[in-house]
Amino acid sequence: MVAPLVDIRQLRCHFGNDKGLLAAVDGINLHINAGEVLGLVGESGSGKSTLGRVIAGLQSRSAGSVVIGGKEMPYKYSRRQFQAMSGQVQMVFQDSYASLNPRMTILASLQEPLLTLGVGELDTRNKARYWLERVGLPQSAGERYPHELSGGQRQRVGIARAFITDPKFVICDEPVSALDVSVQAQIINLLQELQREHNTAMLFIAHDLAVVRFLASRTAVMYLGEIVEIGPTKAVFASPRHPYTVSLLAAHL
Ligand code: ADP
Ligand code: MG
Repeated sequence: MVAPLVDIRQLRCHFGNDKGLLAAVDGINLHINAGEVLGLVGESGSGKSTLGRVIAGLQSRSAGSVVIGGKEMPYKYSRRQFQAMSGQVQMVFQDSYASLNPRMTILASLQEPLLTLGVGELDTRNKARYWLERVGLPQSAGERYPHELSGGQRQRVGIARAFITDPKFVICDEPVSALDVSVQAQIINLLQELQREHNTAMLFIAHDLAVVRFLASRTAVMYLGEIVEIGPTKAVFASPRHPYTVSLLAAHL
């Protein structure tokens, strides 16, 4: 049997507040195979983003192990370790404002992850120009700043930035939730095209069950920091086994 690309064991992440400790992620076991799209659904506050951020190394965990590509991820990354991992794992956020430097041109923002990995200046510029086009943006967008783009255009940049290092694994955290409905389908289709073209494994976090049903081969359902159900998307939607999944599906019909 081939080992999964991403292997998560007994993962926990606590936050302290005035009422004590909150277990945002409370003992999760999960694997994602190379090239597979795993959907992750669950109501707001169930811990989806925390799980994604911990796996991406953007937030440190309290316990458990995260193995990506056979390598155990450290609890806290040094800058060097984090940079090295950026070639493996990338994240697309709800609003790419979160990942784009407002003072950098779009072209510079696309070059940055490659420069970090040690790719030469000329190569990074050519790659950045290729990716502008690949995500459906005109070359002139490269000279602009994030605030000069529409939400949909900015999200295309966020996607280009995530894929430009050719990562094996991309985590998408509600990548279309902040966009106009008319733009959502275009962005979803772009993500699906790129995922297939590069055989990228994906953790796709979404509010919108229809999108997960469309994209994901397996679906996980999260509730109060735990995964209460996981299985082939068709089975989870057609015959949910956990009462929470049943109520979640009913609420979206
Ligand atoms: P979801 O993405 O499913 O909406 P989140 O992962 O954002 O859920 O949040 C899960 C829980 O953790 C929520 O109760 C939220 O308030 C809490 N939480 C998330 N991030 C932090 C943080 N940085 N500090 C304290 N509490 C947090
Ligand atoms: Mg979230």
